Amino acid sequence: MTTPTASLATPYRTHTAGELRASDAGTTARLAGWVHRRRDHGQLIFLDLRDRHGLTQVVIDKVDAPDAHEIASRVRSEFVITVAGEVARRLDGTENPRLPTGEIELRATEVTILSEAKTPPFYINEPDAPVDESLRLKYRYLDIRRQPMADRLLLRSRMVQSIRQVHHENGFVEVETPTLIKSTPEGARDFIVPSRLQPGNVYALPQSPQQLKQLLMVAGMDRYFQIARCYRDEDLRGDRQPEFTQLDLEMSFVDEEAVMGFIESMAITVSEATRPDRPIQQVPFPRFTFDEAIERFGSDKPDLRFGMELIDLAPALVDASGTPASGFGVFDGALSSGGRVKAIVAPGLGGATRKELDELTERAKRFGAKGLVHLAPSPEGLRGPAAKFLSEDTQRAIVERTGAGEGDLILAIADSPVVTADVLGRLRAELGERLGLADPNVLAYVWVNRFPMYQWDDENGRWDATHNPFSGVVPEDEALLVTTSGDPAKPSPDDPAGRARALQYDLALNGWELGGGSVRIHRRELLERSFLLQGQTIDGMREKFGAILDAFEYGAPPHGGIALGIDRWAALLASQTNIREVMAFPKTQSGSDPMLEAPSPPEAVQYEELGLRFVGLPPKPSAD
Ligand code: ASP
Repeated sequence: MTTPTASLATPYRTHTAGELRASDAGTTARLAGWVHRRRDHGQLIFLDLRDRHGLTQVVIDKVDAPDAHEIASRVRSEFVITVAGEVARRLDGTENPRLPTGEIELRATEVTILSEAKTPPFYINEPDAPVDESLRLKYRYLDIRRQPMADRLLLRSRMVQSIRQVHHENGFVEVETPTLIKSTPEGARDFIVPSRLQPGNVYALPQSPQQLKQLLMVAGMDRYFQIARCYRDEDLRGDRQPEFTQLDLEMSFVDEEAVMGFIESMAITVSEATRPDRPIQQVPFPRFTFDEAIERFGSDKPDLRFGMELIDLAPALVDASGTPASGFGVFDGALSSGGRVKAIVAPGLGGATRKELDELTERAKRFGAKGLVHLAPSPEGLRGPAAKFLSEDTQRAIVERTGAGEGDLILAIADSPVVTADVLGRLRAELGERLGLADPNVLAYVWVNRFPMYQWDDENGRWDATHNPFSGVVPEDEALLVTTSGDPAKPSPDDPAGRARALQYDLALNGWELGGGSVRIHRRELLERSFLLQGQTIDGMREKFGAILDAFEYGAPPHGGIALGIDRWAALLASQTNIREVMAFPKTQSGSDPMLEAPSPPEAVQYEELGLRFVGLPPKPSAD
């Protein structure tokens, strides 16, 4: 696919610019491409000719080819030209071992300018030169000419090719589903498209093909996959875009093991095909339940390239009867009010400066903690503002539990269980990168499953699905899908449903969530029960999920699936921290495309045809 072959010959070229070798010397060839660099030595003009396959040195001699030389003297960087002549070995000592074509040059006797170019807004031939991202996005077609961006798109193409191949080999059918549909909620805001034929009505762009893929299972397709474009109108971050691509799949007659097993072997094949140089940390991929992942790493997408696990300090802080007795009010107060006191050990941070410690505390506060306790082991005991409250025994017990040594720094949070885990999890992730504990070359895949089915939504008085509303329930927890009120339409926060675990599994890679899926509910009655807990009314359900509820009355196979973010996966495999770096034409942080200048106001006639009028947005409520 990416290897130049003779089949790429056209009237404009016999070979690509990456193809000629010493063995071609003495033959004639024609090449076409962009002028990467031009060096004028008077009698000789050298042109580096570039296409996406490589670079070939072209030399034009004024004596041998005066006409070609005259044209070559007019070409500039980024002109598109075609050249023809004889392939010759370069003179001894002038070979370029860094180029695959470095042993030869093309001695051109003919040069034709196919298209001229203005001076580009940034250098194409200096791939490492820093260029402002907004400029790169405005001139993306020039940015993609640069080697790093081109390489990343090629990597992504190899990745998707490998994904397709594995799926076809495993009995999957590739089906395209429409993008003008009805809302498929995945927890984000919909993008909507007004209908001209049915004024006043809108289509929603799919947040995922969830309902359609489940309907394909009812339709008997058995195994479906799609490289699917999805749309979610939410605030953008480095790993989010308003439109993004998912590997979306669904399988019939499967349990959790079957889906996870297939995905795992597929992920290994795709990683090895795309990045054979990067080792996978552990196979089979490690698995944690949600509870265990939160307990040990403070995250449901833990980066397993390093340890730095969360340590429960409580046993070091209580007396023989289990009563908090550390003497430090922050610790004891948290423990006696149902909170947790947990810590991580940052290796080598023991000598952190006041300023560094203040910064860490600030970060912890920004993540939602009330404060951060730092303790550094030293021969005289623990050092840090809290140390004076802790008895010698307690200090010793803390050092023992954490295993911290001199030079390390113990960072502790005392807060509610959720805040403690979350803040330490985020600090762990940041410090792992910052302290160089995470090997950038390693691919550490990890599964997390057994998520809670729902989380209580206080504002709306209902149980929200933690993942997607169709997720199945762990069989032994099915009896928990009830309310204490006895009326399924009247949920409350102490319902047994809050304890039910979903047949949901997420795959993470190096601290990023790659995607997730579940074995689904395939019985109408159970799905309706779950929807009621999620605050749906019978009418609302019919309105939103009528097709799937109806379909389940015509014989639905047990089924399950998953969706993985292609952009995220490609970014991780390409060692990038921003998915824009692996997307040909991404949007900026504010959701615009600076090249096409989208979004833009509709034409007056479009308003008219759609029966729309822009009335402006209501003023935002003021902050005070
Ligand atoms: N549709 C889900 C999502 O896009 C994934 C799945 O359950 O298959 O997040």
